[in-house]
Amino acid sequence: MTASFNWQQFDQEHIWHPYTSIQHPTPTFPVISAQGVQLKLADEQILVDGMASWWAAIHGYNHPVLNEAVTTQLQNMSHVMFGGLTHEPAVNLAQKLIQLTAEPLEYVFFADSGSIAVEVAIKMAMQYWLAQGNTNKKRLLTIKKGYHGDTFATMAVCDPINGMHHMFEGLLPKHLFAEAPQCKTDADWHENDILSFKQLLKSHHKKIAAVILEPIVQGAGGMRIYSPEYLRQVKNLCEQYDVLLILDEIATGFGRTGTLFAYQHADIVPDILCLGKALTGGYMTLAATLTTKKVSQGIAADGSGVLMHGPTFMANPLACSVANASIELLLDSPWQERIAGIEQQLRIELASCENYSAVREVRVIGAIGVIELNRSVDIHWLQPRLVELGVWIRPFSNLLYIMPAYIMQPNELSQLTSAMRTVVEEMSKVRTMEIDNG
Ligand SMILES: *Cc1c(COP(=O)(O)O)cnc(C)c1O
Repeated sequence: MTASFNWQQFDQEHIWHPYTSIQHPTPTFPVISAQGVQLKLADEQILVDGMASWWAAIHGYNHPVLNEAVTTQLQNMSHVMFGGLTHEPAVNLAQKLIQLTAEPLEYVFFADSGSIAVEVAIKMAMQYWLAQGNTNKKRLLTIKKGYHGDTFATMAVCDPINGMHHMFEGLLPKHLFAEAPQCKTDADWHENDILSFKQLLKSHHKKIAAVILEPIVQGAGGMRIYSPEYLRQVKNLCEQYDVLLILDEIATGFGRTGTLFAYQHADIVPDILCLGKALTGGYMTLAATLTTKKVSQGIAADGSGVLMHGPTFMANPLACSVANASIELLLDSPWQERIAGIEQQLRIELASCENYSAVREVRVIGAIGVIELNRSVDIHWLQPRLVELGVWIRPFSNLLYIMPAYIMQPNELSQLTSAMRTVVEEMSKVRTMEIDNG
């Protein structure tokens, strides 16, 4: 490449970024390095990172312990196939995951991304019933406003309105959608919150293989937080109607909501659990699907008993090694205090945002702070404005939210919340002016 090669321009002209158009690209900001909670842009500007690279970089960037785990493993082998071979990084990781999660979860499948972990969870549930000779149970029941991935099987259980159902009409399997839960974490429980779910299960349980949902926090489908009581009732109903329960903890796992796993808020246990995102501390793509003896033996019941999945890069040793190091780092840290501290600061510093006319609601749980706006943001204005304010926050739809690394210091967190306050104030002024002008 010549010195004059303009790589930013090449990026805009030739590369798809997540959910973007080649014809009408949104601006992208070139990062040259990342350290702790800071991103350094090509023009040397430093941004405080509020996204932890989509929930994943929980220890911050360029962490010496995680770097060491990757480079040490690199000396031995970066990858070998998992078909017929095994290695210590994968075995150690499986052992850790089994130990950390609820007791009945004792079998692990390593996937190469979150979407694939959900695909595998769905496949486990379908194979479970097929192996018992039950060919009726082929549908899934979920709740609206969910997000489970971008592959076809996972898209089919994403929110039917803001997901991609409309675009792929006719291509996606049709599943059942209960109303999204309304009861807040700390509010009084209303029995009718679960009514729609209960009715669907009651009417269709003979056709339903599994219920799938994100426990306590619905992430990319709307950044919603709901009552643990809802989850407890879902669990009871699944048992009552003989339907498996899949919990997708890809976003919430590893401390994000204040407990190590979000299902612990409700003190329940799923039949199948999906993990991803923060699993490797944001270093590499890796995910896992865990299940119970009941499900694994059920799958084996038809004699062949083979779980029909096996990605090329399954249980990549580099990814497993860094995941082992990340989990140890987390457990050796005062993570509960750190997350509780972030939660408390978010509650205090974001509360006043509810006074602005552009804001519909402020929601906080663990290390997650959400401002829901009255309407969708203008990303072409808002993104550069946030960068100008020295922060990396990536809003979508009508949601301005952060989920920082757990190591974030109070002064850095204040930079994020004050930038959020500044932009909602500016958006509220624009709206008022528009209203004034009729
Ligand atoms: C991000 C996410 C996924 C998909 O994970 P990818 O690694 O992007 O495929 C699935 N479920 C939930 C809850 C997620 O947040």
